[in-house]
Amino acid sequence: MSDHIMPTYASLPIRFSRGLGPRLWDSEGKVYLDALSGIAVCGLGHAHPVVADAICQQGHTLLHTSNIYRIEQQELLADRLCALTGMDNVFFGNSGAEANEAAIKISRRFAHQKGIEQPLIITFQNSFHGRTLATLTATGNDKVKQGFAPLPAGFLHLPYNDLEAVQHAAEQSDNIVAILVEPAQGEGGVRIPDPGYLAGLRALCDQHDWLLMTDEIQTGIGRSGHFLASEISDIKPDVLTLAKALANGVPIGACLTSGKAADLLGAGSHGSTFGGNPLSCSAALAVLQVLEDEHLIERAATLGQRIHDEFCSRLQDHPLVKDIRHMGMLFGIELTQDCPQLVGQALDQGLLINVTAGNVIRLLPPLIISDAEAEQIVDQVCQLVLAL
Ligand code: PLP
Repeated sequence: MSDHIMPTYASLPIRFSRGLGPRLWDSEGKVYLDALSGIAVCGLGHAHPVVADAICQQGHTLLHTSNIYRIEQQELLADRLCALTGMDNVFFGNSGAEANEAAIKISRRFAHQKGIEQPLIITFQNSFHGRTLATLTATGNDKVKQGFAPLPAGFLHLPYNDLEAVQHAAEQSDNIVAILVEPAQGEGGVRIPDPGYLAGLRALCDQHDWLLMTDEIQTGIGRSGHFLASEISDIKPDVLTLAKALANGVPIGACLTSGKAADLLGAGSHGSTFGGNPLSCSAALAVLQVLEDEHLIERAATLGQRIHDEFCSRLQDHPLVKDIRHMGMLFGIELTQDCPQLVGQALDQGLLINVTAGNVIRLLPPLIISDAEAEQIVDQVCQLVLAL
């Protein structure tokens, strides 16, 4: 083990050497079923042949030029994403945090255009938006901020799934310009808001001339059973951020805008050397094609419901199980006690899972899993819970 990696992650003592579909092999040759997808990244599983071919072909053709030139794959991807989402244009970066940084900058431009010099963005308790200075400040979790002061100003944290709190904030301040919200909180414990919540936020944004900015970095690209989770609420945001599953593991982030948010960043106002390069855009175009060709979004909706129902029938009466939640293929099983040990126990049994917010088992299986693999995940997770 190298002593030269900055110890920012408490990594598990395991190295994977290859993957195929929903399976990974460690350096000893032990096989694992992946119910986490690299935390919502590898929605198409590992080494998907269409994505692998696109990456190889692009590697043999052209990896990088610069955004000072036009990039064909970037233009194709922007057109495709706008067609899929109804948004008007896209800025490409390399990560979720970078996509959210662009969103934050856009809302600041919006504010200054309106003559608001000290703008506020509403974000929510238990949210997660990234680790850069602005995005960790937006994040509603004090732990990620510790030791990093001074933090940028301009964020107001309110309780999630509470429209009254937002209404109240609107009455208290004329400086609010935007809301940044996850349609379901992933890192915060797989929290799914009430059905009318996002539509309520949309209405408040319309009423007060604020931007609604949806962070779909974890919920987007089919994970929710729709291309975007916001489709479930039948709303369109002004700003939308994507990353994670967009290129199935090749780094990419995208900030999409529509309407009044679309033209706020002009030439020279933002940039990123690698953002939108031919490699990441080719991989993302391949991902979008596979999602469509293999009907994976519909599959995420039906299989996700089936897995959820199965968890409910087997676990909901268990005294240690507080709640079972899901949105498409994003699952959270909340226990009445912290359960970090389950990650290691699952690993011993050849299953990759995650525990977030201390007591929530979080599952994000690849969308390509078979019925049998889904059953195996449910069986193994239920056994782990029943053995507690
Ligand atoms: N936003 C959400 C909802 C996320 O889940 C994450 C990562 O987990 C991020 C933003 C940050 O993305 P990245 O780690 O690619 O910067």
